[in-house]
Amino acid sequence: MNIKKRIDDVIHFLVHNSIFFTVVIMCMVHAALLLIMLCAGVSQLAAINVVSVIVYIFCIILCRTGHILPVYYSILLEVSTYAVASVYYIGWHCGSFFFIFSIVPIIIYFGMFLFKRYRIHAIFISLVLDYSVFTVLYIVFHDRPPLIETQKWTHMTLTLFSAFVMFVSIIFYSIFYIYSSEKEVDNLEHENEQLSAEACNDTLTGLLNRRGFLPKVEELMEGGDNGHFCIAFLDIDNFKRINDSYGHECGDEVLKHISKMIKKEMHGCGICRWGGEEIVILMKDYDMAVARQKMEYMRESIGATPTVFYNKLIPVTITVGLEEYRDIYGKPDDIIKTADERMYYGKQHGKNIVISKDMNEADA
Ligand code: GH3
Ligand code: MG
Ligand code: MG
Repeated sequence: MNIKKRIDDVIHFLVHNSIFFTVVIMCMVHAALLLIMLCAGVSQLAAINVVSVIVYIFCIILCRTGHILPVYYSILLEVSTYAVASVYYIGWHCGSFFFIFSIVPIIIYFGMFLFKRYRIHAIFISLVLDYSVFTVLYIVFHDRPPLIETQKWTHMTLTLFSAFVMFVSIIFYSIFYIYSSEKEVDNLEHENEQLSAEACNDTLTGLLNRRGFLPKVEELMEGGDNGHFCIAFLDIDNFKRINDSYGHECGDEVLKHISKMIKKEMHGCGICRWGGEEIVILMKDYDMAVARQKMEYMRESIGATPTVFYNKLIPVTITVGLEEYRDIYGKPDDIIKTADERMYYGKQHGKNIVISKDMNEADA
């Protein structure tokens, strides 16, 4: 397993357990603070840290039972209360106000997922409350001597520690957010691909795609009416030249124009955009003689009706291979293949032609 994949797996795990991961970290932060307070001899704050640790142990249980909203509120309440208590006891310079800012990414990240409809309002109110706690604390305590005098090392340790917690919090939740957004985009793209695969129509021409078309041929082959039908395989001649001379947009217009003409003329037939500039037509209830006549007519009218593209007339011709259904064909691809081979023969023998017989006895 390479390192990138491993990092990806870890982030994936953390994102999927992010609230659990958050409360575990919070619990550890307060365990560390408890230790610092014990060393500094501030028993009041040590006691408050014990309460905080207990709160987070409860939060861990709540996470496991799926009660995320109470956990979210507990975090906000606990952090604000702890910041007030620590500033009250050991003064503004202990740096606890950093904790108030460290929950900003938590408010935004979890708020986005927890509050579906009113998430912007909920996040906004939480952020305003959070900042208000900071403002009030600053106004009241920034120049007031602390209730308990602590040594310099305590101030420094607490300030550096709470700043570090804030720093890590910003980094982690930013990574979580970016990762979640990227995953969301990936999922949407994947769903889009699935939807287009499930769709039965070609988006450019509105004709059937293979997925929509082949079952219709299959149905006729298996049907009780002896599968009386013909398949026409139609390919636009020198289509690449149109793209090269007038641009891809013009090529698209030609495709749309020809598809429209075929749709108009071939009522009751299944019409499929087989690939690029290839169209396959299922001519139900046609025998070869009538199908051939019809395709000759189609070939002539397409040749005589150029596409209009920005006041330019773009004439094109088509080459068609035709085949009538017979018992020898076991599946749709077999008969389509024969029609395709006849079309190919037409391409090699001058194009703009309908081929309806085997290659060595082709008539045009
Ligand atoms: P031939 O007469 O032998 O069929 O030659 P051709 O140029 O028509 O056939 P070729 O297979 O050489 O080129 C087909 C071209 O069709 C190449 C491709 O860029 C273009 N094409 C395929 N799909 C589309 C599309 O959706 N829109 C546009 N504008 N061009 C397309
Ligand atoms: Mg072509
Ligand atoms: Mg082609």
